[in-house]
Amino acid sequence: MIPASFDYSAPSTLDEALKLLNELGDEAKILAGGHSLIPMMKLRFAEPEHLVDLNNIPGLSYVRIEDDYLKIGAMTREVELEESHHVIDHFQIFKDATKLIADPQVRNFGTIGGNLAHGDAANDHPALMIALNAEVEITGLEGKRTVGIDDFFYGFYATAVQDGEILTEIRIPLPEGKYGNAYHKTERKVGDYATGGVAVQIVLDDNGVCTSAGIGLTNVNPTPLRAKRSEEALVGTTVDADAIEKAAQYASEDCNPSTDLRGDEDYKRRIIKVLTKRMITKALERAQS
Ligand code: FAD
Repeated sequence: MIPASFDYSAPSTLDEALKLLNELGDEAKILAGGHSLIPMMKLRFAEPEHLVDLNNIPGLSYVRIEDDYLKIGAMTREVELEESHHVIDHFQIFKDATKLIADPQVRNFGTIGGNLAHGDAANDHPALMIALNAEVEITGLEGKRTVGIDDFFYGFYATAVQDGEILTEIRIPLPEGKYGNAYHKTERKVGDYATGGVAVQIVLDDNGVCTSAGIGLTNVNPTPLRAKRSEEALVGTTVDADAIEKAAQYASEDCNPSTDLRGDEDYKRRIIKVLTKRMITKALERAQS
């Protein structure tokens, strides 16, 4: 399969890229790792007239702790996140997730910004960012704005990034207290998109009471989904067996999976229930260790 013909620019500054995107409007698409966009172009699901490649722009790839946030530059590759000591120290959830994403070739090139900006509920990072209460920095010619993750995904392949804008940074708050996080998805075979996936973060106070919980679900709703009732079932408890059971039941009831080649609706709800229990338990163990 061959994509339709297109023009190509590789600006060397963010400003140049923003100017180009503003001139070209909806004729242009941003190219990051290309591992979602290029397959869509080959299938002719996307036919941009112009690609604006971000790969030559310095300063968009980093993982650092600053101002009580883990900050991830949009062009950071999966593999860089996987190998970051900040991730190993604070957010083991990324280690859980990255090893389940595709294969090393995709992880060597696919970017975290691209994974979110693609706006696909089947991608894994959206659910993680929901569980971790991330914020997304979006840059336009007028300056930068910050969007909370709950306002970022608003339709099928639609996000808060508008024509002429670039997602530049993802910020994840470092929780106060003891915390742990975990992710798992079931997949038909290694490297497949999720049949269903669950991301969890649990924050505990000194008495072991849950002060905050984040639960994000992958590929069981048209958009990445926050399991709100499940989160509420955990807050204020010691995350005992009853609270975990309730949270898991709510997640399976509140998701909206569709029947497809990966399984029917009932099967996917059961997957979500089992994974929610397991990921809460794993996040709790990590918070307590
Ligand atoms: P691109 O493909 O370059 O771009 C994707 C979209 O986002 C485009 O519309 C582009 O214009 C836009 N975009 C990119 N960067 C920005 C930015 N900074 N600002 C604004 N818009 C931007 N992903 C998973 O999560 N889980 C999987 O299991 C998985 N399996 C895969 C298996 C295969 C075989 C392949 C090819 C891909 C798979 N992926 C999976 C997708 C992969 O993780 C992609 O790399 C990722 O979704 C997109 O990142 P990218 O950098 O490649 O973005």
